[in-house]
Amino acid sequence: MRYSKKTKININKPKIAVIGGGPMGLAVSYQLAKDGFKPVIFEADDRLGGMAASFNFNGIDIERYYHFHCLSDKSFFKLLRELNLDNQMKWKRTKMGFFFEGYLYEWGSPKSVLQFNKISIISRLRYLLHALWCLSIRRWDHLDKIPASEWLKKWLGKNGFKVLWSRLLEYKFYKYQDEISAAWIWSRIKRLGLSRKKFKETLGVLNGGSNIWISKLAERLEELGVKILLSNPVERISIQNSKIKIYAAGKGKEEFDIVISTVPLPIVGRILDPNTFSLKMINNYLNQISIPCVCVILKTKKKITNNFWTNINDKRFMIPGIIEFSNLSDIEPFITYVPFYMPKERPEYSRPDEAFISDSLNCLLAINKDFDKNDIIDTYCSRYEFAQPISKTNHMKRLPSINPSKNFWTVDTSIYYPEDRGISESIDYGRNLAKKVIKNFEG
Ligand SMILES: Cc1cc2nc3c(=O)[nH]c(=O)nc-3n(C[C@H](O)[C@H](O)[C@H](O)COP(=O)(O)OP(=O)(O)OC[C@H]3O[C@@H](n4cnc5c(N)ncnc54)[C@H](O)[C@@H]3O)c2cc1C
Repeated sequence: MRYSKKTKININKPKIAVIGGGPMGLAVSYQLAKDGFKPVIFEADDRLGGMAASFNFNGIDIERYYHFHCLSDKSFFKLLRELNLDNQMKWKRTKMGFFFEGYLYEWGSPKSVLQFNKISIISRLRYLLHALWCLSIRRWDHLDKIPASEWLKKWLGKNGFKVLWSRLLEYKFYKYQDEISAAWIWSRIKRLGLSRKKFKETLGVLNGGSNIWISKLAERLEELGVKILLSNPVERISIQNSKIKIYAAGKGKEEFDIVISTVPLPIVGRILDPNTFSLKMINNYLNQISIPCVCVILKTKKKITNNFWTNINDKRFMIPGIIEFSNLSDIEPFITYVPFYMPKERPEYSRPDEAFISDSLNCLLAINKDFDKNDIIDTYCSRYEFAQPISKTNHMKRLPSINPSKNFWTVDTSIYYPEDRGISESIDYGRNLAKKVIKNFEG
């Protein structure tokens, strides 16, 4: 009996492992399962979702890190439709604020920018022009070669840059602030700029939060025969006789024909077996830089402002902005996220959670003088070591190969540059990668 190549694959299917159960690992596994494969997911955490995972905040199921969606998040909406969850999206006209040197200003609309008299009228006009111009750019290659700070200074002037951007870059990137590529900043400006209806910022959130789609997808995956192994961090990957061996903490050793890793690239560097992979390659993974995030969540009796997002430029606080999540999702009691991005080697990073909570509180008290310590109901603090990959100029040239060895694939959120990390972007990339991997395997 003769089999076509396709039939042969269906009879003798490759054994596939997906490392990481965040949005990208889930999307890779879903696409593979839809195409008839039954991968095994290895997830280090005790739950799925990665950065989008939720926890029980004394009675409210909520994400450890805030998540909103933009009108352009097409791959996310496609997945929601497939899971029959598309009617659960809620959209809202959101407001932005700017807390500058002790005062809260309105921000985001052309009128608010024009009224902001802390920079020259020329800078204000150039700020608006720049935002419009960002929407019109199609090819971004030239922006990949220049630092964002240089590019923004050219557009806004020295003082405009100092007031509007310098602190945001400083408190997100610290020593890397002058190395971030203009293409990366451009794609962030554009994503938010496109999420406007009749010039008004319009953001979305899924009723019940990310946990809703993640648990529904996990159910679907299990129905399709995908095995999900939680609390199973992969500790070693080696290759022998065309088989890829995975050593996982809870599972021992297992061999696979195809392995797709979606965990942050520096973690890949830690788990590659030096007897299989060259030191040069391992170091390339280890040298990928990511900034950790310490994220404080406050449950309060009242809101701080009417804004969803308030950018901050105030030398008292190492905080680039606060996110009042209840001004988007109507969740009660009122929820505010205060993210602190900082390199691990900064002395402040090793402070206890209480220090970050206290800094957050002081910042909220400064923004709203009527806010009181007694308005706090509850606080929580989470940390993620690989929260924000650093996208320097010429970013793609710095990344390790996505296919370092036959049938072994390694990607993380930095791969879909110039887009910033995002749920929709991880889903989109993951689904396309799954198809590419199988095509490559079939030859
Ligand atoms: C503060 C903050 C705010 C954000 N806001 C938004 C937003 O508003 N909108 C939006 O779309 N996106 C937002 N994001 C980004 C979004 O969360 C990410 O883009 C998305 O979660 C990336 O998914 P991923 O699967 O690619 O990576 P990750 O979420 O990083 O998943 C990687 C997974 O790998 C697992 N892992 C690590 N090591 C191992 C190992 N050795 N073995 C097995 N598993 C391992 C991890 O536990 C994790 O589950 C935000 C992120 C942060 C930090």
